[in-house]
Amino acid sequence: MADFRLPTDTIVRPDKDRFLSQMAQTGTFQSNEENPFEAMMSRFDRAAQLLDLEPGIYKVLRSPEKEITVSIPVLMDNGEVEVFTGIRVLHNTSRGPAKGGIRFDMNVHLDEVKALAAWMTWKCAVVNIPFGGAKGGVICDPLNMSVGELERVTRRYTSAIIQTLGPDSDVPAPDVNTNERVMAWLMDTYSMHVGHTVNAVTTGKPVEMGGSLGRREATGRGVMFTATQALEHLKMDVKGATVAVQGFGNVGSIGAQLMQQAGCKVVAASDRTGGWYNPKGIDIDDAIAHVKKAKTLAGYGKGEAITNEQLLELEVDVLIPAAMENVITTKNARNVKAKIVCEGANGPTTAAADAILDEKGIFVIPDILANAGGVTVSYFEWVQNRGGYYWDEQTVNDRLRSIMVNSFRDVLKLSQQHKVNMRTAAYMVAISRVATVHRLRGIYA
Ligand code: NAD
Repeated sequence: MADFRLPTDTIVRPDKDRFLSQMAQTGTFQSNEENPFEAMMSRFDRAAQLLDLEPGIYKVLRSPEKEITVSIPVLMDNGEVEVFTGIRVLHNTSRGPAKGGIRFDMNVHLDEVKALAAWMTWKCAVVNIPFGGAKGGVICDPLNMSVGELERVTRRYTSAIIQTLGPDSDVPAPDVNTNERVMAWLMDTYSMHVGHTVNAVTTGKPVEMGGSLGRREATGRGVMFTATQALEHLKMDVKGATVAVQGFGNVGSIGAQLMQQAGCKVVAASDRTGGWYNPKGIDIDDAIAHVKKAKTLAGYGKGEAITNEQLLELEVDVLIPAAMENVITTKNARNVKAKIVCEGANGPTTAAADAILDEKGIFVIPDILANAGGVTVSYFEWVQNRGGYYWDEQTVNDRLRSIMVNSFRDVLKLSQQHKVNMRTAAYMVAISRVATVHRLRGIYA
């Protein structure tokens, strides 16, 4: 049975995806290298140039379709009224409804939301699912709010942006500090407004009310599919391939577990408390059991203690950064010794570090491809909701495999044709898919 009185601590996930967090704290980024908007735009520009994108479509794709800012008055538990700011940005809907998460965080900022919405457009296009890109958020401090206050913020924000929401127009999902509980409130509020139950208005819902089986594991599973494809492409054995994983949360622990099940040897794993290295291989089920009890990898002990920095520089076949952004930079890229980097996290490599990894001949599976398993199963959730027919877990996993493998091959083919790395090729695949639809649809006037 689902517990609908979830405590605040399961709603708030403060260390998840602190994307662009420096921006709101300091008003600027630590360095230009670490500015993710720049990171995204420099890669977009390079791919657009190689595609010889016409200036009109270039301008269309650089501009978000819609930016909404709303005030959210909320009655707080102490009887006072607080007014929060909420944002929703739809970057591009030419290929289908906008898709993208909603975050509750003090660091939510319009520029950040615009960059992340565009990122979603490219991620959906690279795996060829019929969605555009969106992102949203509420500037608030969920760590210091009660469950009741969070519910009222969610419902008032939902009603404030209700014009854009809908299974055919804009479909949110959980993101930083939001979860399936928040999506259940959002779905309920939307349904109350339209007068009937519409579970396809959001994804990432509890399985009991239309969430998809296999969603929790989907991103890690997609990481495993793309990493094993890369090993096969490089004619390396999957069996016995050595793997190091940074981050042991949803993406990292499940990615590591599935890599091990595929026959790889996971020799290192870390989380925010540090990491463990064991050349004979770490038993990932055992490490997961430790984290279940102890909350972190601290004290795991079955191996040599290493730092997160050391983990990134280990001599392994596959390195999976699955914790946070900007961990491979110009400062350490030269020391990366992995043959394959599979980006489970969003933005783990800075744009400036790309060139160094390229020079070293490292095969990088870019984030917009490697971690797209999550949004792919979100798409399956939306399809199941709309069809009113639910798939078993094996069907979800098989269909995910087919999409991830085909997408990997599409990107690889373009990278070979144009002699560019996998990241540039992924952007080229994504941009050309969106641009093609714009050309076919024409400019409405
Ligand atoms: P999570 O909160 O479940 O896990 C994050 C992990 O990273 C934890 O083990 C944490 O201890 C570790 N970590 C935090 N700070 C660290 C640091 N400084 N050094 C080393 N480890 C650190 O989050 P998640 O859902 O696994 O997401 C991880 C990354 O993957 C994020 O970049 C997220 O945006 C991205 N991502 C997640 C999904 C998804 O479906 N969950 C989908 C696409 C992309």
